[in-house]
Amino acid sequence: MKIVDVMGFFLTCGIVKFLGVLSMEIGLRHIKVLSFDMEGTLVDPYFSRLIWEVDIPRLYAEQRGLGLEEARERVFKEYREVGEERVEWYDVSYWFKRLELGGDWRDLLESRRDACRLYPEVRGVLERLRERYTLIVTSNTIREFLEVQLLDLKPLFTRVFSAPSDFGEVKKSPEVYIRVCRELDVEPEEMAHVGDHPKFDYEVPRMVGIRAYHLDREYKLRGEHIVHNLEDFEKKIRMIESI
Ligand SMILES: [Mg+2]
Repeated sequence: MKIVDVMGFFLTCGIVKFLGVLSMEIGLRHIKVLSFDMEGTLVDPYFSRLIWEVDIPRLYAEQRGLGLEEARERVFKEYREVGEERVEWYDVSYWFKRLELGGDWRDLLESRRDACRLYPEVRGVLERLRERYTLIVTSNTIREFLEVQLLDLKPLFTRVFSAPSDFGEVKKSPEVYIRVCRELDVEPEEMAHVGDHPKFDYEVPRMVGIRAYHLDREYKLRGEHIVHNLEDFEKKIRMIESI
Protein backbone atom coordinates (compact mmCIF):
# COMPACT_ATOMS: atom_id res chain seq x y z
CA MET A 1 0.00 0.00 0.00
CA LYS A 2 1.39 3.37 -0.94
CA ILE A 3 2.01 6.00 1.65
CA VAL A 4 -0.61 8.21 -0.02
CA ASP A 5 -3.19 5.42 0.35
CA VAL A 6 -2.33 4.98 4.02
CA MET A 7 -2.64 8.69 4.61
CA GLY A 8 -5.90 8.70 2.68
CA PHE A 9 -7.20 5.85 4.83
CA PHE A 10 -6.40 7.65 8.07
CA LEU A 11 -7.76 10.89 6.73
CA THR A 12 -11.02 9.15 5.82
CA CYS A 13 -11.19 7.52 9.27
CA GLY A 14 -10.62 10.91 10.84
CA ILE A 15 -13.35 12.53 8.80
CA VAL A 16 -15.78 9.69 9.50
CA LYS A 17 -15.05 9.90 13.22
CA PHE A 18 -15.40 13.67 13.17
CA LEU A 19 -18.70 13.43 11.31
CA GLY A 20 -19.86 10.77 13.76
CA VAL A 21 -19.14 12.96 16.74
CA LEU A 22 -20.63 15.95 14.98
CA SER A 23 -23.81 14.12 14.09
CA MET A 24 -24.12 12.86 17.66
CA GLU A 25 -24.01 16.43 18.80
CA ILE A 26 -26.08 17.94 16.04
CA GLY A 27 -28.03 14.92 14.80
CA LEU A 28 -30.17 17.03 16.40
CA ARG A 29 -33.33 18.53 16.77
CA HIS A 30 -33.02 21.88 18.41
CA ILE A 31 -32.57 21.98 22.11
CA LYS A 32 -35.72 23.17 23.81
CA VAL A 33 -35.18 22.38 27.47
CA LEU A 34 -32.17 22.96 29.70
CA SER A 35 -32.15 20.94 32.89
CA PHE A 36 -30.02 21.78 35.92
CA ASP A 37 -29.01 19.76 38.92
CA MET A 38 -29.35 21.72 42.16
CA GLU A 39 -26.64 21.09 44.78
CA GLY A 40 -23.13 21.53 43.50
CA THR A 41 -24.55 23.03 40.31
CA LEU A 42 -26.77 26.01 41.19
CA VAL A 43 -26.13 26.20 44.94
CA ASP A 44 -23.18 25.04 46.99
CA PRO A 45 -23.65 22.25 49.57
CA TYR A 46 -23.33 24.55 52.62
CA PHE A 47 -27.06 24.68 53.43
CA SER A 48 -27.48 20.90 53.27
CA ARG A 49 -24.40 20.25 55.34
CA LEU A 50 -25.60 22.61 58.04
CA ILE A 51 -28.97 20.90 58.25
CA TRP A 52 -27.72 17.29 58.26
CA GLU A 53 -24.38 17.58 59.98
CA VAL A 54 -24.88 20.44 62.41
CA ASP A 55 -28.53 21.28 63.10
CA ILE A 56 -30.05 17.81 63.37
CA PRO A 57 -27.25 16.57 65.68
CA ARG A 58 -27.59 19.81 67.70
CA LEU A 59 -31.35 19.35 68.13
CA TYR A 60 -30.76 15.72 69.07
CA ALA A 61 -28.16 16.80 71.67
CA GLU A 62 -30.56 19.38 73.15
CA GLN A 63 -33.41 16.90 73.25
CA ARG A 64 -31.39 14.30 75.14
CA GLY A 65 -29.00 16.45 77.11
CA LEU A 66 -25.97 15.04 75.29
CA GLY A 67 -22.75 16.69 74.22
CA LEU A 68 -22.62 17.68 70.56
CA GLU A 69 -19.93 15.18 69.59
CA GLU A 70 -21.76 12.24 71.12
CA ALA A 71 -25.04 13.36 69.54
CA ARG A 72 -23.36 13.66 66.17
CA GLU A 73 -21.91 10.15 66.42
CA ARG A 74 -25.30 8.69 67.31
CA VAL A 75 -27.13 10.58 64.58
CA PHE A 76 -24.56 9.61 61.95
CA LYS A 77 -24.93 5.99 63.04
CA GLU A 78 -28.69 6.29 62.48
CA TYR A 79 -28.05 7.81 59.05
CA ARG A 80 -25.83 4.85 58.18
CA GLU A 81 -28.47 2.38 59.36
CA VAL A 82 -31.00 3.79 56.94
CA GLY A 83 -28.49 4.28 54.12
CA GLU A 84 -28.74 6.45 51.05
CA GLU A 85 -30.45 3.77 48.98
CA ARG A 86 -33.68 4.28 50.91
CA VAL A 87 -35.91 7.21 50.11
CA GLU A 88 -36.31 8.06 53.82
CA TRP A 89 -32.65 9.05 53.94
CA TYR A 90 -33.55 12.25 52.09
CA ASP A 91 -36.69 13.03 54.07
CA VAL A 92 -36.22 15.56 56.88
CA SER A 93 -39.70 14.94 58.31
CA TYR A 94 -38.81 11.24 58.64
CA TRP A 95 -35.66 12.12 60.58
CA PHE A 96 -37.52 14.48 62.88
CA LYS A 97 -39.87 11.61 63.75
CA ARG A 98 -37.24 8.90 63.95
CA LEU A 99 -34.93 10.93 66.16
CA GLU A 100 -37.83 12.40 68.13
CA LEU A 101 -36.70 15.95 67.58
CA GLY A 102 -38.97 18.69 68.88
CA GLY A 103 -40.35 21.50 66.75
CA ASP A 104 -41.25 21.75 63.11
CA TRP A 105 -38.65 20.69 60.56
CA ARG A 106 -39.97 23.34 58.14
CA ASP A 107 -38.95 26.06 60.59
CA LEU A 108 -35.44 24.64 60.66
CA LEU A 109 -35.13 24.84 56.87
CA GLU A 110 -36.50 28.38 56.87
CA SER A 111 -34.13 29.43 59.62
CA ARG A 112 -31.20 28.45 57.40
CA ARG A 113 -32.40 30.24 54.28
CA ASP A 114 -29.44 32.62 54.49
CA ALA A 115 -27.08 29.66 54.21
CA CYS A 116 -28.23 28.99 50.62
CA ARG A 117 -25.50 30.29 48.38
CA LEU A 118 -25.68 30.44 44.62
CA TYR A 119 -22.49 30.03 42.65
CA PRO A 120 -21.52 33.45 41.32
CA GLU A 121 -22.28 32.96 37.61
CA VAL A 122 -25.63 31.21 38.08
CA ARG A 123 -28.07 34.10 38.02
CA GLY A 124 -26.60 35.79 34.94
CA VAL A 125 -26.43 32.55 32.96
CA LEU A 126 -30.00 31.58 33.80
CA GLU A 127 -31.33 35.01 32.93
CA ARG A 128 -29.69 34.88 29.51
CA LEU A 129 -30.67 31.28 28.74
CA ARG A 130 -34.31 31.72 29.73
CA GLU A 131 -34.75 34.07 26.77
CA ARG A 132 -34.46 31.10 24.46
CA TYR A 133 -35.00 27.88 26.42
CA THR A 134 -37.33 26.29 28.92
CA LEU A 135 -35.36 25.94 32.13
CA ILE A 136 -36.00 23.18 34.66
CA VAL A 137 -34.39 21.70 37.76
CA THR A 138 -33.90 17.93 37.96
CA SER A 139 -32.57 17.06 41.39
CA ASN A 140 -32.36 14.21 43.86
CA THR A 141 -32.96 16.60 46.74
CA ILE A 142 -36.39 16.53 48.37
CA ARG A 143 -38.86 19.18 47.30
CA GLU A 144 -38.89 21.01 50.64
CA PHE A 145 -35.15 21.59 50.37
CA LEU A 146 -35.43 22.72 46.78
CA GLU A 147 -38.14 25.24 47.66
CA VAL A 148 -35.82 26.95 50.13
CA GLN A 149 -32.64 26.58 48.08
CA LEU A 150 -34.14 28.10 44.95
CA LEU A 151 -34.37 31.46 46.72
CA ASP A 152 -35.77 34.01 44.29
CA LEU A 153 -34.72 31.99 41.23
CA LYS A 154 -37.93 30.00 41.20
CA PRO A 155 -39.73 32.14 38.58
CA LEU A 156 -36.90 31.40 36.12
CA PHE A 157 -37.80 27.71 36.08
CA THR A 158 -40.80 26.24 34.32
CA ARG A 159 -40.68 23.05 36.39
CA VAL A 160 -38.75 21.78 39.39
CA PHE A 161 -38.45 17.98 39.56
CA SER A 162 -37.36 16.12 42.66
CA ALA A 163 -36.51 12.44 42.10
CA PRO A 164 -37.52 11.37 45.65
CA SER A 165 -40.57 13.65 46.04
CA ASP A 166 -42.02 13.35 42.53
CA PHE A 167 -40.96 9.87 41.46
CA GLY A 168 -40.15 8.03 44.72
CA GLU A 169 -36.61 7.41 43.43
CA VAL A 170 -33.50 7.98 45.53
CA LYS A 171 -31.32 8.77 42.56
CA LYS A 172 -31.84 10.18 39.12
CA SER A 173 -32.41 6.91 37.24
CA PRO A 174 -32.98 6.59 33.47
CA GLU A 175 -36.72 6.37 34.23
CA VAL A 176 -36.62 9.70 36.05
CA TYR A 177 -35.12 11.42 33.01
CA ILE A 178 -37.52 9.69 30.64
CA ARG A 179 -40.47 10.79 32.76
CA VAL A 180 -39.17 14.35 32.91
CA CYS A 181 -38.99 14.41 29.09
CA ARG A 182 -42.49 13.01 28.88
CA GLU A 183 -43.84 15.59 31.32
CA LEU A 184 -42.37 18.34 29.19
CA ASP A 185 -43.40 16.66 25.95
CA VAL A 186 -39.90 16.71 24.42
CA GLU A 187 -37.63 14.05 22.97
CA PRO A 188 -34.46 13.34 25.03
CA GLU A 189 -32.26 14.92 22.35
CA GLU A 190 -34.22 18.13 22.73
CA MET A 191 -32.98 18.40 26.29
CA ALA A 192 -29.55 19.21 27.72
CA HIS A 193 -28.71 18.56 31.35
CA VAL A 194 -25.83 19.73 33.52
CA GLY A 195 -24.79 18.60 36.98
CA ASP A 196 -21.83 17.74 39.14
CA HIS A 197 -22.39 13.98 39.59
CA PRO A 198 -20.50 11.88 37.02
CA LYS A 199 -23.06 9.11 37.05
CA PHE A 200 -26.44 10.65 37.84
CA ASP A 201 -25.94 13.91 35.98
CA TYR A 202 -23.87 12.67 33.08
CA GLU A 203 -23.80 8.93 32.36
CA VAL A 204 -27.46 8.24 33.14
CA PRO A 205 -28.96 11.09 31.10
CA ARG A 206 -26.56 10.33 28.20
CA MET A 207 -27.82 6.72 28.28
CA VAL A 208 -31.32 7.89 27.44
CA GLY A 209 -30.15 10.32 24.75
CA ILE A 210 -30.12 13.60 26.66
CA ARG A 211 -27.21 15.95 25.86
CA ALA A 212 -25.66 15.84 29.31
CA TYR A 213 -22.59 17.67 30.59
CA HIS A 214 -20.56 16.89 33.65
CA LEU A 215 -19.85 19.96 35.74
CA ASP A 216 -16.41 19.83 37.34
CA ARG A 217 -16.04 23.04 39.30
CA GLU A 218 -12.61 21.98 40.54
CA TYR A 219 -11.02 21.89 37.10
CA LYS A 220 -9.79 18.32 37.57
CA LEU A 221 -11.19 16.89 34.35
CA ARG A 222 -10.99 17.68 30.67
CA GLY A 223 -13.20 16.43 27.90
CA GLU A 224 -15.78 17.15 25.29
CA HIS A 225 -18.65 16.91 27.75
CA ILE A 226 -16.93 18.47 30.75
CA VAL A 227 -17.76 22.00 31.81
CA HIS A 228 -16.22 23.93 34.69
CA ASN A 229 -18.99 26.38 35.41
CA LEU A 230 -22.34 27.30 33.93
CA GLU A 231 -20.83 29.88 31.58
CA ASP A 232 -18.97 26.97 29.95
CA PHE A 233 -22.25 25.09 29.70
CA GLU A 234 -23.88 28.12 28.09
CA LYS A 235 -21.05 28.24 25.51
CA LYS A 236 -21.48 24.53 24.71
CA ILE A 237 -25.19 24.99 24.15
CA ARG A 238 -24.73 28.03 21.95
CA MET A 239 -22.03 26.20 19.98
CA ILE A 240 -24.24 23.16 19.34
CA GLU A 241 -27.08 25.42 18.31
CA SER A 242 -24.90 27.41 15.94
CA ILE A 243 -23.58 24.40 13.98
MG1 LIG B 1 -25.35 17.81 42.58
